[in-house]
Amino acid sequence: MRALITGVTGQDGLYLSELLLSKGYEVYGLIRGQNNPKYELVEKTVPGVKLLTGDLTDFSSILRALSVAQPDEIYNLGAISFVAYSWENAQLTSDVTGKGVLNILEATRLWAGDDLDKVRFYQASSSEMFGKVQEVPQRESTLLWPRSPYGVAKVFGHYMTINYRESYGMHASSGILFNHESPRRGPEFVTRKVSLAVARIALGLQSEIVMGNLDSKRDWGFAGDYVEAMWRMLQQEHADDYVVATGETHSIRELLEVAFSEAGIAEWEHLVKQDPRFIRPAEVDLLIGDPAKARSVLGWEPKVGFEELVRMMVRSDLAEQKQLARL
Ligand code: NDP
Repeated sequence: MRALITGVTGQDGLYLSELLLSKGYEVYGLIRGQNNPKYELVEKTVPGVKLLTGDLTDFSSILRALSVAQPDEIYNLGAISFVAYSWENAQLTSDVTGKGVLNILEATRLWAGDDLDKVRFYQASSSEMFGKVQEVPQRESTLLWPRSPYGVAKVFGHYMTINYRESYGMHASSGILFNHESPRRGPEFVTRKVSLAVARIALGLQSEIVMGNLDSKRDWGFAGDYVEAMWRMLQQEHADDYVVATGETHSIRELLEVAFSEAGIAEWEHLVKQDPRFIRPAEVDLLIGDPAKARSVLGWEPKVGFEELVRMMVRSDLAEQKQLARL
């Protein structure tokens, strides 16, 4: 089997590459830019992945990647994925996270020609599409009401994927994934921001952490578990949409509590400062997913719980920061 992954340099791209390589796939990854510094990261973390240069905003580069990779499965993970950044760069976010999905769907259709059955497609949709939530917990049928340019772009990609499935009979599935984290999460995301800062505070390299709303709650799972769900979607006879979540919700305060306890710090409140600059212009409501369909159809279950996940991230950052500071 051959797979093409966009967003291969990101958190999920790395875990998915590992999973597919372990299953004997030939894995191709789309990487953007000239001298992308993450080239080395991919080669070191998942040796064996073949990198092809391209960009989701560049239609011809996607066509070229498809014709080289000749994939049986395509995983579209590439996106401008940071919600806060999407307000400042709404057009770029729309071009990449939204219209980029149309580009790869259409390139796939043209590349496959009369033989569209030969390929299966996965779209990385997001719980941020629920934004102003209309139902708790959220499931596949819950009305979408995005509350950020990122969420709006994801809704476009989600419905485009459904339309290619319904209009052309393409095996195109969309995974509505709730937040998933790991030691490979980018440091701009709140879980990693916390694990990194807590590790640095414990090592005496930083004195405090500045946060937004401590009462915000999210449904957080482990990225390694979530890429398994992506793969399972493409092994089904029929394409469909699935919510992938833990079904549990935890606050930023709980995240801080567990993170500081892993670093051996019991009294932590005075180390956390709050700054309104970190509060979103429009906060999403209570995001909590109902993964019942993924459980019953895909046989998928999350294996790593919230506490274990946070502790894993802090341990990893403690080890990395110690090494960097040569402590
Ligand atoms: P990351 O932010 O870690 O990775 C995003 C990837 O997209 C990077 O490899 C980045 O490449 C790539 N990318 C950015 N712009 C372009 C472009 N113009 N053309 C091609 N590739 C591009 O995200 P995650 O791995 O965490 O998430 C994977 C996908 O799942 C994303 O689409 C995200 O929106 C979605 N998602 C993630 C969730 C989560 O909790 N992690 C939840 C729900 C959905 P580069 O290294 O060059 O910047």
